[in-house]
Amino acid sequence: MIAGYRCPRDGRTSPAADLNWHCPDCGSPWDLDHSAGRVDQDQLASRPASLWRYAEALPLNDPSISLGEGFTPMVALDERVSAKLDFLMPTLSFKDRGAAMLIEAANRLRPERVIADSSGNAGTAVAAYAARAGLSCTIYVPATTSAKKIEQVRAHGAEVMIIDGDRETTARAAQWGADQPGTFYASHVYNPYFLHGTKTYGYELWESYGGRLPEVIALPVGNGTLVLGVALAIEELVDHGLLDRRPRLVAVQTEVVAPLARAHREGLIELPAGYATSAETIAEGIAIADPARAPQILAAIERSGGDIVTVADAEVAAAQQDLAARGLYVEATAGACWAAVRHAERAETDEDQLGWQLLADQEVVVPLCGAGLKSGLASVQT
Ligand SMILES: [Zn+2]
Repeated sequence: MIAGYRCPRDGRTSPAADLNWHCPDCGSPWDLDHSAGRVDQDQLASRPASLWRYAEALPLNDPSISLGEGFTPMVALDERVSAKLDFLMPTLSFKDRGAAMLIEAANRLRPERVIADSSGNAGTAVAAYAARAGLSCTIYVPATTSAKKIEQVRAHGAEVMIIDGDRETTARAAQWGADQPGTFYASHVYNPYFLHGTKTYGYELWESYGGRLPEVIALPVGNGTLVLGVALAIEELVDHGLLDRRPRLVAVQTEVVAPLARAHREGLIELPAGYATSAETIAEGIAIADPARAPQILAAIERSGGDIVTVADAEVAAAQQDLAARGLYVEATAGACWAAVRHAERAETDEDQLGWQLLADQEVVVPLCGAGLKSGLASVQT
């Protein structure tokens, strides 16, 4: 028996073995029906250098499919801003945190097949861990996905379904597949085991900073898997008396696909139907027009006293090149938060938005969440 699911809207529960990928009553993505235990900082030194070291807080332990994920290093970008190098993961992105936990859950249920949909990094991560588990795997990707990511998915033995449409059309195709009996929908958006993997980003920061968190945690946001994971870690650390002060979360979107930034600015608690549409952006990892967990993401930002800011594609491309010039070759999406910090530092006085103020003068950590080799240097026509 592994922890089952609970609907955050109406409280309905479902055992994980039933393979329901969302709440049958209201369609909401699930939360995990699990309460995290208290991590003992004094015991951590003797634990393995992977995300599994926070055993008390995790819904699953003694993993059978680990690829050594997690416990990534931090480096200073300047005297105020640090980067956490999550591109140094088995499949070269932070998504391995979630995929390791998610496929560990799938492996204990032994479904006939796992399927997932992704703009790239989550798909490559799920494919790799499914290969490790010996599970039959199909990944749905939009036709715009970079060739190198598709090659990586195929190399892991997964079947690739290339969908002629945007990210939302791709998700709908995968969800039709997810409704077929015997299918485990390894969705980084819908399945909460994924978020209990990404929450280790927050636990690792807490350990790196000696039992506290920096004043501001900057995070790219599309489907919100990193924002929600970090928010979960913060709540658990506060609940167990391991954190005195909540850090502020400043999430970053690109100007062309910014439904969450707009909703936050307008004080909405969820996205109205048809609120945003897909558009071309070099930050493909966060180009999500209609994130299924929008209410949870907006609530997490609000609760932290944070904000959501937007940057132009040209700023993201410049940040990617600036990081490369400092020795850090990351993909465009991974440059979004550094782009936001640079924007904040040169912001004019008329930019009085909270997020810019926080990024301009507080202690900040940014995730470098995917490797440059995944998609190469982005170029923006101006
Ligand atoms: Zn429900």
